[in-house]
Amino acid sequence: MRSKRMVTDRSGSNDLEQRSVARIVTAHRQQEGAGFTVRRPFPAAGLDMIDPFLLLDEMGPAEYGPGEATGAPDHPHRGFETVTYVLEGETEHEDSAGHRGRIGPGDVQWMTAGAGIVHSEMPARRIRERGGRVHGFQLWVNLPARLKMTRPRYQEIPAERIPQARTGDGRVQVSVIAGQALGVSAVIDTHTPIIYQDWTLEGGAGVVQSIPGSHRACIYVFAGSVHIGTRRAEVGDGQLAVLGEGSAVSLHVPDNAPAPARLLVLAGTPIGEPVARQGPFVMNTREELYRAFVDYQSGRMGSIER
Ligand code: MN
Repeated sequence: MRSKRMVTDRSGSNDLEQRSVARIVTAHRQQEGAGFTVRRPFPAAGLDMIDPFLLLDEMGPAEYGPGEATGAPDHPHRGFETVTYVLEGETEHEDSAGHRGRIGPGDVQWMTAGAGIVHSEMPARRIRERGGRVHGFQLWVNLPARLKMTRPRYQEIPAERIPQARTGDGRVQVSVIAGQALGVSAVIDTHTPIIYQDWTLEGGAGVVQSIPGSHRACIYVFAGSVHIGTRRAEVGDGQLAVLGEGSAVSLHVPDNAPAPARLLVLAGTPIGEPVARQGPFVMNTREELYRAFVDYQSGRMGSIER
């Protein structure tokens, strides 16, 4: 089912109400899949989700030696979407529907698991065998009840098709995975309104990004540090800022910053439904969760043929 595109923000820059930082959370480190380490700002104690987002993992940056890199071999998902964004390295993906692909630097795979798939997400064989650098993100986006059992869908967008933009002074750059920024619009279609942007701000740079007032919003910093909001709360590497209400956010990096700041802006319309989640399944009720485990174990989500 196709959904409507992001609603265009029509507010002029003069009447944007600035969001401030409501809370700062430091990502914890956690082992995932077959044993790779992620930085995970949420879910965490006291921060289950930021509706509609269920999880954010930063894989790496890590330098693996020969035979060291691992991934997430065959596992199922139902009831939500996984969004993989690779910065360095390459992920090989295959699934129970016979779909195979590679996700390299700058590429995005927006996978709607919907009713269910079994998939495998592994570092490219070259990296597993010879070693190499790995850095990327996986975001989990919830689906409303009416879409939890939708047909699985992939949107695989190579780096060259991810819209990018810069400010006039060249000090701010953005890759627009979802939503709109600096006059460019994403090519990815989202089931509910979502903003997902990768920003780079050099020292002395500043920008104001509109975020519709209906969205919940957060910012994850993964290099350097940035000052957010009119009160300029400083948010550093590995920290997530949960934003308060408003229709825009201002980002600023001081002149004397030793390195550019890198950050993800994530926002979306809250789904506002009960969440029953366990492991790879995210449903509305315990009964639906139980059904997901039964369906997976009885093979109804399929398996990867090799
Ligand atoms: Mn997965």
